[in-house]
Amino acid sequence: MAGFRRRIRTPISRISVIVAVALVIPLATYTIYQLAQSGENERLLRSIYQRQLDSILFSVNQYCWDRFNTWASELAVLGRSLKDADRAWPGVRNLRRFLRGKPPLSGAFVVNRRDVFLMATAGQFSSVRRPQLRRLVTRTLSEREAVWNRAVRQARAGYTRPLVARLDVDHTVLLFPVLDAETADSVVATCGLVIDDQRFVDDVVARKLNAINTGEFIFAVSDQSRNHLLYASEDFEGNRFETSESLWILPDLRLQIRLRGTTLEQLSRARTRRNLLFLGAVNGILALALVFLLRTVTHEMALARMKTAFVANVSHELRTPLSLIRMYAETLELDRVPDDAKKRRYYRSIVSESSRLTQLINNILDFSRIESKQKRYKFTTVDLGGIVERVVDSYRFHLDQNGFALSLQIQRPLPEVQADPEAVEQALVNLLDNAVKFSNDRREVNIRVWHERDKVAISVEDRGIGIPESEQKKIFEEFYRVGDDLVHNTRGSGLGLALVKHIMRVHRGSVRVRSKVGEGSTFTLEFPVA
Ligand code: ADP
Repeated sequence: MAGFRRRIRTPISRISVIVAVALVIPLATYTIYQLAQSGENERLLRSIYQRQLDSILFSVNQYCWDRFNTWASELAVLGRSLKDADRAWPGVRNLRRFLRGKPPLSGAFVVNRRDVFLMATAGQFSSVRRPQLRRLVTRTLSEREAVWNRAVRQARAGYTRPLVARLDVDHTVLLFPVLDAETADSVVATCGLVIDDQRFVDDVVARKLNAINTGEFIFAVSDQSRNHLLYASEDFEGNRFETSESLWILPDLRLQIRLRGTTLEQLSRARTRRNLLFLGAVNGILALALVFLLRTVTHEMALARMKTAFVANVSHELRTPLSLIRMYAETLELDRVPDDAKKRRYYRSIVSESSRLTQLINNILDFSRIESKQKRYKFTTVDLGGIVERVVDSYRFHLDQNGFALSLQIQRPLPEVQADPEAVEQALVNLLDNAVKFSNDRREVNIRVWHERDKVAISVEDRGIGIPESEQKKIFEEFYRVGDDLVHNTRGSGLGLALVKHIMRVHRGSVRVRSKVGEGSTFTLEFPVA
């Protein structure tokens, strides 16, 4: 037994170590790490989302810039062709043609090498403003000479970067140098585009924003210089925009973007919280699985222990009656028993020992049939009173022999029930056998059969050692025997009551016990009336 215990303790501790190393430690470490990192994760998530917003704005800016470049290179071709024109006409015609189909452009002009100012206008923008525009160009070029020189240098490097000047609240002028086509060195003209801010926003910016918007964002464009909203993808009721950037080509205009219905902070916090919650759930499931695993393992171990005890018990159980039978039979065979009374006692012992043996073997066989689901019951309509009388009759002698006072009360009439008579007998024999085995000095067995509402009940009462309250449920488990000295000294397999319970379940009835230590026990079987 000690060796067995050692064997079974090892798997439990081994399983615990494996589970700890493979699951608990990594998960616990990961959980602690995640908890410690939650603030950092939140910041990281926020910066990822932020970068997403930034990149959206970047792509819009890029798009506007490309649009400007297309216009600029078209105008540069015109500028070069007009570099030596000494009159405005007919160059202006070409400029007008250039403006066609470009609603955001209110005007375009070229100042050539001969300082001729060629200009065309479109839409509401009146050519009356020509002197104003000219003044603006002259002023800008002289006041921001350094910036202009840089623009020239960049143009030589093949990069058009305009000088931005504000004409009025609605218009912005973009000035850029045009270089000689062959040398790509000397400036042959200064070109300019007059942009209608609002139309630019409507035609270029808003169109691009609409194409991008999948409904997750709110966009707006506003003129910073006068705090004026030029465009909003929807009504945003004064909500703060988390991310904004100036338009590269119209720096007074600001592109703004925010998440719809939430903020970056809320989004990243919710995401972090969800991750932690998920982690918590995984931990919970693991804890439950561990509890379940340990319980199952412990239970299986206990069962294995009981099975081993069972094998030891049963071997003993088989050997004792067999050697008694053999001893009596051999003595009788040698004719060494002088008086008849003694002979009869020997015969009786042989009969009672072999019936014990039969009982034990029946229990074991039945149990194994139940385990392998091969046990079949034959139900018929029976009179339980009759069955009880039969069993008591065949058992009476055994009881008398052991000095038991027996009383049997059958309350007639009894309704018939559906039952397998053999199974009922087996259940009863097991109860009687236990009553005999577990009685000390007060040797008394009372059997009662009665009818109560829709049940017929059979009870077997003894005045034996009794069963502690804490054990009263367990004794119906297979192989279970109370850890009492008397119990250990009596023969048994621990299968009797498990069989009784099974039999009663098959009969849709029940078995219960009422017992007090030192005073005795009463087992009651209840059968439903057919
Ligand atoms: P076995 O009698 O072979 O040990 P059972 O399944 O019939 O197995 O009974 C299980 C245990 O229940 C017994 O070992 C004993 O501890 C307890 N028990 C059963 N019947 C009685 C009884 N009438 N009085 C006291 N203890 C009992």
